Amino acid sequence: MIASKTHVVKVGNLFVGGGNPIVVQSMTDTDTSDIIKTVSQIQDLVRAGSEVVRVTVNDEAAAQAIPKICEQLKLFGCDVPIVGDFHYNGHRLLRDHPECAKALAKYRINPGNVGFGDKKDTQFAEIIKIAIKYNKPVRIGVNWGSLDKALSAKLMDENANLENPKTPESVTEKALVMSALQSAQYAERLGLAPNKILISCKVSEVSALVRVYEDLASKCNYALHLGLTEAGMGLKGIVSSSMALGILLKRGIGDTIRVSITPEPGQARTKEVEVCQNILQELGLRNFKPSVTSCPGCGRTTSTFFRELASEVQSQIQEKMPEWKARYPGVENLKLAVMGCVVNGPGESKHADIGISLPGKGEAPSAPVFIDGKKITTLRGENIASEFKGIVENYIDNRFG
Ligand code: SF4
Repeated sequence: MIASKTHVVKVGNLFVGGGNPIVVQSMTDTDTSDIIKTVSQIQDLVRAGSEVVRVTVNDEAAAQAIPKICEQLKLFGCDVPIVGDFHYNGHRLLRDHPECAKALAKYRINPGNVGFGDKKDTQFAEIIKIAIKYNKPVRIGVNWGSLDKALSAKLMDENANLENPKTPESVTEKALVMSALQSAQYAERLGLAPNKILISCKVSEVSALVRVYEDLASKCNYALHLGLTEAGMGLKGIVSSSMALGILLKRGIGDTIRVSITPEPGQARTKEVEVCQNILQELGLRNFKPSVTSCPGCGRTTSTFFRELASEVQSQIQEKMPEWKARYPGVENLKLAVMGCVVNGPGESKHADIGISLPGKGEAPSAPVFIDGKKITTLRGENIASEFKGIVENYIDNRFG
């Protein structure tokens, strides 16, 4: 893996970039001016593991709510850095609401819609100067859905005049990177230090995102915020985000991540945090909770007992993790195995810290349990699941207590 060579940016109480652990972040979808709902959702996201939370700051009411939101969070003992997301009127909101500008841990601005025509540079400069005044970092977040139109049109015209014009897609990708880097360099000329700048260039296609970030990483040392924008709903959003972020993170690209999935009706907003954590954990970059290796099951274990046991162990982790995290430092590194039969069960169980292997179908439930590679007991009868969960609890208490 390539060691991160990006600048370290302090965001609130967190350090992002330069090889620090990759930070998980998320964004609320409440009306920011609804302080109670916004505070509540931020707390949910933080409890799920979000280390930075971004909120929309789109009007006067939202800007006025920000200091109150930050104050209430502090009263609840929550010091998560809050990032303000500004479009079109960010310069005015930050200028007219200094308490909002002070309370936020970072500003996110989009060069594609910070202002148009002559106003673009002046409004961009106004935000950067406020960031310098309050010592805040800024994310310059370019998105292909709102790419700087003037820059894009200029590059398209230049391309059209080439003997062998490139595809419009590759010109757009070039424009994304150029927009981000030119804006960052302009911010530096205005006096913002490179370790106060983060960059993102988001697109909604996996291959394009990989190309854009590889180009970006080769051209700058700014800390990189990684995310596939508008990733989609359900399985599609999770798979596409995992593919895109997985490829880039494995290549050492990316300092903080967000998964932009569309929540399914009724689905918790915290799903995006869960996906981020799973991506980092599966890549071996960070551990957040004990992992459970379980086989898919096959004709050798047709009973539902196996699925129920695997599901019960997963639920035990989900439910107990908040308590375990506080009481047992390091518990997130625990490895469990729940296997369906003797073919791979004992071997896989021995690789885990604690493993259980069911016998397969056609036999009375009788399951050897392995701890630290050694068989310690065989569970039988109807209470295998609860007895196994008890063994897990004891093991955690002995090892991490
Ligand atoms: S461990 Fe056994 S039950 Fe599980 S997939 Fe392999 S052969 Fe099938």
